[in-house]
Amino acid sequence: MLIGKNAFAVSLLLIATLSAQEQPPKNRERLSLPPAAVAAMNGISKQSIETHVRFLSHDLLEGRGTGARGGDIAAQYIAAQFALYGLKPAGDNGTYLQKVPLVGVTPGADTRFTFIPSTGAPADFKNMDLKMLDDYVAYDQTQQSVSDIDAPIVYVGYGIVAPEYNWDDYKGVDVKGKVLLMLVNQPTNDPNLFHGKALTYYGRWMYKYEEAARKGAIGAILIHRTDMAAYGWGVVRNSNSGEKAYLQLDGTPKLKAAAWIQLDVAAKLASAAGLDLDKMMTDAQSRDFKPVQLPVRLSAHITSKVRPFESNNVVAVLPGSGALPVASPLKDEGVLYTAHYDHLGIRPDMPGDNIYNGALDNASGCGILLEIARAYAESRMKPRRSIFFASVTAEEQGLLGSEYLGKHPPIPADKISLDLNYDDVRPQGSAEEVEVSGAERTTFYPVVQAAAEEFHFAIRPDAHPEAGHYYRSDHFSLARVGIPAFSINEGIKFKGHDEAWGLAQDQDYVEHHYHQPSDEYHPGLDWTSDADMARFGFALGWQAASQTGLIGWKEGDEFNRPRK
Ligand SMILES: [Zn+2]
Repeated sequence: MLIGKNAFAVSLLLIATLSAQEQPPKNRERLSLPPAAVAAMNGISKQSIETHVRFLSHDLLEGRGTGARGGDIAAQYIAAQFALYGLKPAGDNGTYLQKVPLVGVTPGADTRFTFIPSTGAPADFKNMDLKMLDDYVAYDQTQQSVSDIDAPIVYVGYGIVAPEYNWDDYKGVDVKGKVLLMLVNQPTNDPNLFHGKALTYYGRWMYKYEEAARKGAIGAILIHRTDMAAYGWGVVRNSNSGEKAYLQLDGTPKLKAAAWIQLDVAAKLASAAGLDLDKMMTDAQSRDFKPVQLPVRLSAHITSKVRPFESNNVVAVLPGSGALPVASPLKDEGVLYTAHYDHLGIRPDMPGDNIYNGALDNASGCGILLEIARAYAESRMKPRRSIFFASVTAEEQGLLGSEYLGKHPPIPADKISLDLNYDDVRPQGSAEEVEVSGAERTTFYPVVQAAAEEFHFAIRPDAHPEAGHYYRSDHFSLARVGIPAFSINEGIKFKGHDEAWGLAQDQDYVEHHYHQPSDEYHPGLDWTSDADMARFGFALGWQAASQTGLIGWKEGDEFNRPRK
């Protein structure tokens, strides 16, 4: 496919000095980049990546907090690099910066959450006062300092509407102005549904809140069960105390109470209402499930400290050549690269080293993004479609910068063929594997496979599809507006090491450094693997920018719907 007809096309294989026997069969997908592109790709330098990481993770940048000085310095640094490369600004008003308006919401201590009996409740149903953090957590997504709720509670099972699985938990029931009680995760009894055990977006709490709000509900309460959520109440509690950031209101429907309750509390509530929680859970496994209105109301008084602030995405573009292999306006189409630059900032109350430098998470991805951008900018030949580079903010706050980018893309989302994202790419020597989870859901996958083969990378499958990692990095924000998107990362196999070594590195990182001040830059690490991932992504992006037609989602995929 793609540049095969180009007389100047040179297979990567020739460059990579491989033996002829290793060439893939003729009729397979082949990567073939023009020599100028190959030269640009080979110029990607691990020293440059390392240099960017060293600066971006310096203590002076104070952990690159969203809306904080260090984060803003990082954004300015990245914008300056884009300018030095000669890339064009693609942010607001002819600048590289795209303003992302944010709001911090902190629940007030005087917030009150009570279940009260209504018509049909058993006579012995007494008001149930809930204790914040122990029994429940709740955020007011409507960003008001005070919201009051007095509304009936409707149990909606999993709260899922998934046309591609012929599944609708709402069954047309009007839930406007009501509070919805629902289960986390997705039905699991039928392996043919919802990708079996692999978590789909429908199983994520974010989706459930969004669907409830779209249906006009004013509140949604998720029932936490450790095995269903894949994490304990402690995680829910920790990630739902203190300030939480949101995009400023933009007309998207929001909930006055986006809440979770403990399993015990849900069981008590059900039995007080004359119901059986276990049976309710079993009923929800069926496609024939219908919503059940409980003889209970939620009476809530929710107070919040509301703090508007702002941060910026950094966006640049290399305009495409528009050279026409086919009659299509390729110049108006693009390929996007993303990597978040924000991290967790400083914790002033913490003794000792309290700077979250985020060298790997995600100065590493920024270094790669910048090197890819430089390589494209310096290439003597330009790709046909435009190439956009976006270093996004507020990833650690819930993918907010990329969500804003998805809602306000530099060109319409349906003209963006592909997003390639980098997040947390660790310097571990020479990579022998690549992880591209989500790529298999797109029509681009044969090209990805061919590229992996030519780079001599084995494709490592997602080890924990039930954990839903696909929904936890910035590419997902682009996927949800319809853009085929995935992250590129290493697997666990590196040259000169066995799998056990890779797994041990993984474990050490997760246990001792991930989201900790010790995620710092150290001299002497081998950044070869980061350059490997950068070249691989460069090749994929070039192919996507050159091929006939835009990339799509495969038939039946949850994201395969008209792009907005
Ligand atoms: Zn992170």
